Amino acid sequence: MSETLEAPPLCAPGREASARGAAKVLVKSYGCQMNVYDSARMTDLLAREGYAEAASEDDADLVILNTCHIREKAAEKIYSELGKLAILKRERAAQGRETKIVVAGCVAQAEGELVLRRQNAVDLVVGPQSYHRLPELLSRAAEGARLTDTEFSVQDKFHALPDASPAQIRARGVSAFVTVQEGCDKFCSFCVVPYTRGAEVSRKVAEVVAETRRLADAGVREITLIGQNVNAYRGEDEQGRAWPLERLLELLSDIAGVERLRYTTSHPVDMTQGLIEAHGALPKLMPFVHLPVQSGSNRVLKAMNRRHLAQDYLNSVAALRQARPDIALSSDFIVGFPGETDADFEATLDLIRAVGFASTFSFKYSPRPGTPGAERDDQIDEDVKRERLAALQELVAAQRQAFNAATVGREIEVLFEKPGRHPGQVAGKSPYMQAVHVAGGRDLIGRVARVTIAGAGSNSLAGRRVEESGGATN
Ligand code: SAM
Ligand code: SF4
Repeated sequence: MSETLEAPPLCAPGREASARGAAKVLVKSYGCQMNVYDSARMTDLLAREGYAEAASEDDADLVILNTCHIREKAAEKIYSELGKLAILKRERAAQGRETKIVVAGCVAQAEGELVLRRQNAVDLVVGPQSYHRLPELLSRAAEGARLTDTEFSVQDKFHALPDASPAQIRARGVSAFVTVQEGCDKFCSFCVVPYTRGAEVSRKVAEVVAETRRLADAGVREITLIGQNVNAYRGEDEQGRAWPLERLLELLSDIAGVERLRYTTSHPVDMTQGLIEAHGALPKLMPFVHLPVQSGSNRVLKAMNRRHLAQDYLNSVAALRQARPDIALSSDFIVGFPGETDADFEATLDLIRAVGFASTFSFKYSPRPGTPGAERDDQIDEDVKRERLAALQELVAAQRQAFNAATVGREIEVLFEKPGRHPGQVAGKSPYMQAVHVAGGRDLIGRVARVTIAGAGSNSLAGRRVEESGGATN
């Protein structure tokens, strides 16, 4: 932990907030699901310290930005957000009201004290492995210190975090994330994650089971196991034996109340035969896999240090489809990695055509400080990146549309999660991660029901519920 001695506080900590009731915190999450999970844990931790949840910045005495550093744009967005918060903080200070601003997550980890130097209004910078120390850090910040804590803690952060209460769990809905693995040892040459999140660590089997049970008991019906490389999971059981992900999934599928299991994000080299076979063996494991490939060119894959060939990826896809014929695939792509030629890019389009994806995320390569890719002198022109991204996105949009259209007329199970956009509608998710809405009431939320798909757009499906007797209802 380091400390800088700038800008003393304007007001006594928390005094104004207590005059207006409990102090309120807003945790804003950017980037991946890991951050969504961490943001919820920070909110729970601060609830224990007496902070209520704020609905917006206007309402919050403490604003935490849980940030993403994966691409330059994501990181710069944080500074523009901080600029707005700095104005809010100044205006309130003029009225005698205090606001604390915390930068957490991967920008905090990667930039540390630089964040304090770039934006004077920031009180605390706390990394993804240190946020369990927020209460202590906040009380020191209340005394006027501006602090940075980006240590990879020896203490297990998860042990220091309180469990969410049943009411907190219910407020977050029927689908929940559980972090089972953090960090990455792969060092892809474009990626900052191994530097911001540290080495691969898996949570113990018993901890994951306990957290899943608590969620299911409070009404959660779908659990998504998350990790930067979730299929590299090697959590220990009570005898100290390391379990692979498929064994964990098998155990979790026996927990009462758990109706659906998913996992994300996977790396192709950790897609073992055992995990592939689990898709055929575990009915609760949903037929959808997010398996980022990044490129279809062997030359680029090698330069990216992805440690597999395009054909290995295609083989895994074929094996997954053999284990579970209706499985839907999703992936991440980067266009314009240094040295990528037209032929390399064509190979990526060929791979996409060969697989047929249900959904994808695609990005222009963004050089990140400290990564080998950023040092290369064969960076690709921005216009070329833009053109390639547009061509790739056109292809995958057509595939997504075709995938959605192919579900029309089918009867599929939907887990209902929330009221729909229009009155009298309820919305949920298909096994293949498609948003589905039907006519129906709130009583459906938390239930899995059979639905006949009547229409498909590019982003959602419309359906009719099938009565248990077999007919369709509106
Ligand atoms: N662990 C996952 C894997 O192995 O593919 C990916 C996790 S990463 C947080 C999410 C995605 O961000 C990556 O799959 C990649 O497509 C994208 N990404 C990472 N670094 C990037 C960069 N420098 N420029 C553009 N996209 C990037
Ligand atoms: Fe980043 Fe590669 Fe690790 Fe995924 S596997 S988090 S892309 S370094």
